[in-house]
Amino acid sequence: MVYLRDYKYFVKTYGCQANEYDSELIASILEKMGAQAVSSEQDADIVVFNTCAVRKNAENKFYGRLGALKKIKNEKKDMIVIVAGCLAQKDYLKISSIDHVDIVLGTHRISALPQILQEIKYSRRKVVDVDFTGRIEPDVPPRRLSKFSAYIPIMFGCDYYCTFCIVPFTRGKMQSRNKEDIIKEVLELDRQGYKEIIYIGQTVNAYGIDRKFEYDFADLLLETSNVIKNIKWIRFTSPYPTNFNDKQIEVISSLPQVAKHIHLPLQSGNNEVLKRMARRYTVEQFCDIVYKFRTKNKYIGLSTDIIVGFPGETEEQFEDTLEVVDKIRFDQAFMFAYSEREGTKASKYENSVPYRERLKRLYRLIELQNKITEEKNREYVGKVVDVLVEGQTDKNPNKWEGRTETNKIVVFEKPKDDISGSFVKLRIVASHTWGLEGELLTD
Ligand code: SF4
Repeated sequence: MVYLRDYKYFVKTYGCQANEYDSELIASILEKMGAQAVSSEQDADIVVFNTCAVRKNAENKFYGRLGALKKIKNEKKDMIVIVAGCLAQKDYLKISSIDHVDIVLGTHRISALPQILQEIKYSRRKVVDVDFTGRIEPDVPPRRLSKFSAYIPIMFGCDYYCTFCIVPFTRGKMQSRNKEDIIKEVLELDRQGYKEIIYIGQTVNAYGIDRKFEYDFADLLLETSNVIKNIKWIRFTSPYPTNFNDKQIEVISSLPQVAKHIHLPLQSGNNEVLKRMARRYTVEQFCDIVYKFRTKNKYIGLSTDIIVGFPGETEEQFEDTLEVVDKIRFDQAFMFAYSEREGTKASKYENSVPYRERLKRLYRLIELQNKITEEKNREYVGKVVDVLVEGQTDKNPNKWEGRTETNKIVVFEKPKDDISGSFVKLRIVASHTWGLEGELLTD
């Protein structure tokens, strides 16, 4: 194996938790080869962009930063530039034609990185490896950025082909991991003193379906909660609404170790639009799932994703979305104006909604959701909540932040000691749309 002892590396991650985990794997591989992490491209000999293809915005940001890297690379001829992730998988021809890119690495090829680096170090030939025949299970533990919260992929890829989504084309077919490997990873994190794990997958609660396991997502949660000692919260994201069955709802609602927050992507509040999106549920089925969760636990935190201005969406259909949002009252929503992704079915749909109209709808939806979020957050004022402390806020060194079990951000005055990774009790004294303010009771 090539030895990178004098090398410094920098990884920039775009997009979702799956990418964050993959970046941790890439970092681990590079460190195992001797390289050391640095915090900017300028200081690095190896620069990795782990890209996202889901939204145009992330794509534009990546190309901008890659363009700026050219000048640095001109001054540092030996620098190795690696482009990995979903955009590398999707647009490998375009990316590999960019002069200062040395390696294009597909989403299934991370484990091949040592061999590729060896090849490139001796030949200085551009390498494009986007073979898509199967996800190779990680053979190194990831270099975890957090010492108390850890992502664990339990499945890769997606079989659902929603018409707006590029993910099945960039991450391949659904592949569930063996439960033995997952539990082994959990036990190691528990031994290391981690406080929270987050099971991730594109349709995380469909775990096992592809391999016809008799053991399903509910069984995995049950077994995990039985083996953990230090880990207090098990989170998961993102579930697919209709993969929730009664057993899963019961297990999630009743196990104290499963954090009481569900991210449940609605996407649209109109059945016609849902059909054109190829979502496999109706608004009524979606509301039924929400009802079942809330009947078991009325304080459960619910967040969602919504797209407005999908091709062909009429004003009335958009108003249906407003109505459903108003009825369900999510705690939080990630809201987007539809943006075409080349290669998806929806990008070929006619009747596109004019861009200005998409934005107008988006602002109306945001206005409604912000009002709901603010009202829901206000219900917390005066309560005492348990929070897992994440550390100092980005904006203010005198303020710290953490998250409740229901995934609310709580900001509080800087504590005397570094208590990041600890559970504390906070009394909520103020609420906002962005989250809560609290007073530390257990400093
Ligand atoms: S379920 Fe739909 S939106 Fe989610 S990753 Fe799969 S195709 Fe994309």
